[in-house]
Amino acid sequence: MKETTDLICPECGSGRVENYRDIEKYKSVITCAHCKAKYIYLEEIDTDYTREAVCPYCGWENSDSWELRLDGDGDSTTIKCGECEKEFKVYLNLEVTYSTEKIEEK
Ligand SMILES: [Zn+2]
Ligand SMILES: [Zn+2]
Repeated sequence: MKETTDLICPECGSGRVENYRDIEKYKSVITCAHCKAKYIYLEEIDTDYTREAVCPYCGWENSDSWELRLDGDGDSTTIKCGECEKEFKVYLNLEVTYSTEKIEEK
């Protein structure tokens, strides 16, 4: 079965969907309403600014993200997916806040 990421039938180019069935969290089998071909639709995995580190390959969530050890540069690390066992890079997004104080006049 062919795979697509944009819900367009790889056989005929039609975007009309007759049937839609989830097989995994980010994977569905689509039946094209035009040519009746079946294809696999790979949903885009949301990996940006998520609350937990999400595997960009399969969507697995690392529920222990807070335990991640960061590399020397302090804002990224590489971890192994607990589901598909692929390694991926995790960036820590730090929220920027500001503090101010008065400057004493001399
Ligand atoms: Zn089609
Ligand atoms: Zn994975």
